[in-house]
Amino acid sequence: MNNRDLIKPDSNFTKEVIGLGGESLKKCFQCSTCSVVCTLSPDDKPFPRKEMLWAQWGLKDRLLGDPDIWLCHQCNDCTVHCPRDAGPGNVLAALRNYSFGHYANPAFLGKAFRNPKYLPLLLLFPVVLFLILLGATGNLTIPEGEIVFEHFMPHIILDPVFLVLTGLIFVIVAMSLSRFWRDMKKSTGSPKSSITDIISGSAISKLIEFLQHKKFYECGSSRIRMLSHMAIFYGCMSFALVTASVFIGTYTVGLELPMAQYHPLKIIANLGAIAVITGCLLIIVRRLSAGKATGNSSYLDWNLVILILIVTSLGILTEVLRLADLATAAYVLYFIHLVLVFYGIAYFPYSKLAHILYRSLAILYADSNNMGGKKTLSPKPRKIRDSEIEI
Ligand code: SF4
Ligand code: SF4
Repeated sequence: MNNRDLIKPDSNFTKEVIGLGGESLKKCFQCSTCSVVCTLSPDDKPFPRKEMLWAQWGLKDRLLGDPDIWLCHQCNDCTVHCPRDAGPGNVLAALRNYSFGHYANPAFLGKAFRNPKYLPLLLLFPVVLFLILLGATGNLTIPEGEIVFEHFMPHIILDPVFLVLTGLIFVIVAMSLSRFWRDMKKSTGSPKSSITDIISGSAISKLIEFLQHKKFYECGSSRIRMLSHMAIFYGCMSFALVTASVFIGTYTVGLELPMAQYHPLKIIANLGAIAVITGCLLIIVRRLSAGKATGNSSYLDWNLVILILIVTSLGILTEVLRLADLATAAYVLYFIHLVLVFYGIAYFPYSKLAHILYRSLAILYADSNNMGGKKTLSPKPRKIRDSEIEI
């Protein structure tokens, strides 16, 4: 009697997963085709068949602590081959989207972020904050003379705002990941799972794998998907590098802004912007044109790609307007750019961007506990049509 598992179904959880893009999950009849076709699913503990069952039953605790939902790289092979069109790839994506809001505190922000009707309210906060800052520095009007954004919003004010915000988000993310870690331990009951094991184990090799986007190759994602993902990732890395360098340069060697167009940091930022914009456009075109192989795109998916595209495009446009000496347009776009950058950082723990951290942690956890075993590859099964199934 004591060895029996206590099942705690949560029907609201199932409804939420359905609302986040897993609408076909109840069609699954447990044939396991998905687990067979998935090249990332190991032989000894395959996914996503079991996750489909758990999602149907509303086994929230078991699913949220399941590292396997993060081992999936959303190639959607399983969705294409599912004879019931149950969309297992979409269900795993919906579970991941649910996790961001579940683990990050405060919970109401996670819920608000998942719901498009709260978007104006979430944007209103940085708008009001920056208007107050502009008012406090006497810059509610467009500055006269040469366009220098420093005159409009001085770094001495802007930097502490973003530093405090980043510090706060860092704490929230660290707490979220630690809750996720505890749930993985509880859910899998794995004995070897200390952070020391991980660092002394496979962290470096996994980091290299991650930088090479190796799993995208392994799971047979389309080349376009992998390239667009890499373009956005490395483009954003270049922004992080340039921002950190400018920050350090301003306070140590007195780096003057705006930098000349041929300054190496400016060139890196512009190349990064081209990569990011290209990657976002490729993703958008692919999502709009491809069918089942692309999977469902939820509000969180669109929110992320549109945000990255707009923030980057505004950055470039602001630069062009500054060079063209169109002061009003340049300052207004710069203001919107700042608001959106703040939005991206402030709501990072609840957004799909946080998948970088959850996925990395789950991969390390699975690897250090020998959970991400090998797959014996077999020819992919032909898709069985409903008409061929005898009941
Ligand atoms: S292939 Fe489809 S029906 Fe079969 S177990 Fe997977 S999700 Fe369910
Ligand atoms: S989407 Fe791809 S990686 Fe994810 S479970 Fe399906 S087949 Fe595997």
